[in-house]
Amino acid sequence: MEVLAKLNLSQLENFVESLGEKKFRAKQLFSWIYSKSVCDFDLMSDIKKDFREKLKENAVILDTKIKKKQVSADGTIKYLIEYSDGNCAETVLMRFDNRSNLSACVSSQVGCYMGCDFCATAKRGFIRNLEPYEIISQILTIQQDTGLKVTNVVFMGQGEPLNNFDNVFSAIEAINTNLNIGIRRITISTCGIADKIKKMCESDFVPTLAISLHCADSDVRKQIMPVENKYSLDELKKSLIYYTDKTGKRVTLEYILIGGLTDTKQMAQKLCDYIKDLKCNINLIPYNPIGVDKYKKPNKKDTMIFKYLLESQGKKVTVRLERGADIDAACGQLAGKS
Ligand code: SF4
Repeated sequence: MEVLAKLNLSQLENFVESLGEKKFRAKQLFSWIYSKSVCDFDLMSDIKKDFREKLKENAVILDTKIKKKQVSADGTIKYLIEYSDGNCAETVLMRFDNRSNLSACVSSQVGCYMGCDFCATAKRGFIRNLEPYEIISQILTIQQDTGLKVTNVVFMGQGEPLNNFDNVFSAIEAINTNLNIGIRRITISTCGIADKIKKMCESDFVPTLAISLHCADSDVRKQIMPVENKYSLDELKKSLIYYTDKTGKRVTLEYILIGGLTDTKQMAQKLCDYIKDLKCNINLIPYNPIGVDKYKKPNKKDTMIFKYLLESQGKKVTVRLERGADIDAACGQLAGKS
């Protein structure tokens, strides 16, 4: 059985011809799969019946299945998607009441080896990289299940996307060209692999960049994010300046507020110093506890003081709305549990 989501347009044309059909049928199929998100050959009304029968005998569109689906009270939907080898990854659809955007938060790996101490995925260790079509399958699954068109994609699910560089950038190209999602609406979130940030600037499809910074003090950052041992805050900053100079875009700094650890006034001052000459926005994320936990949620007052101190430096600061916390779909809570 051929899995059609694995094929680009010219490979699909070859496949269609191998079934004795004309090349243009591939474009029709492509449009059903990517523009109309239809996965049932019988619903492809402009494709003649005998070709639809051949397709049913020889192909499937996706070889994934939804193993579990959870809907949060705020409308966030979390899917556990099972791949053909039995491995699972999570993907989340986030809706915001006051906006028409539908953001898919996709996974790039099964598990992760970066070992961030606050992260549920890290607790599983690393299993494998996801192939480009396995990343795209997550978006197609959401679109087919909901009948809605995803407008934004963020690589913020399981895995460190820059550790799966080639597959992630092939997926980004396909998301942009096949699913017609603008490159500014595609965001990579990385824990700070500085050399790969520079490498991505050479790509034909440079996405928006978000950095999981989480602390601007090197010693504390080492405690919670082992990546700091390899790529220091200084080296990371050089790569961020390289990105902003090269692309003209701002970076978003994601910062987890952990009660009593990263949410203090001293930590706010360190962050102010770090970002002084950086084109950036800051997204503060109140920590979500993941079960038995040595870290604490920040209190609201400390969060507001932290935000105020950053804003007084003239930076745009948002406090992330907690989406899907009741179904473990909030930041740092994806673990691919089945
Ligand atoms: S926060 Fe991201 S990079 Fe760190 S362990 Fe979790 S998935 Fe990996």
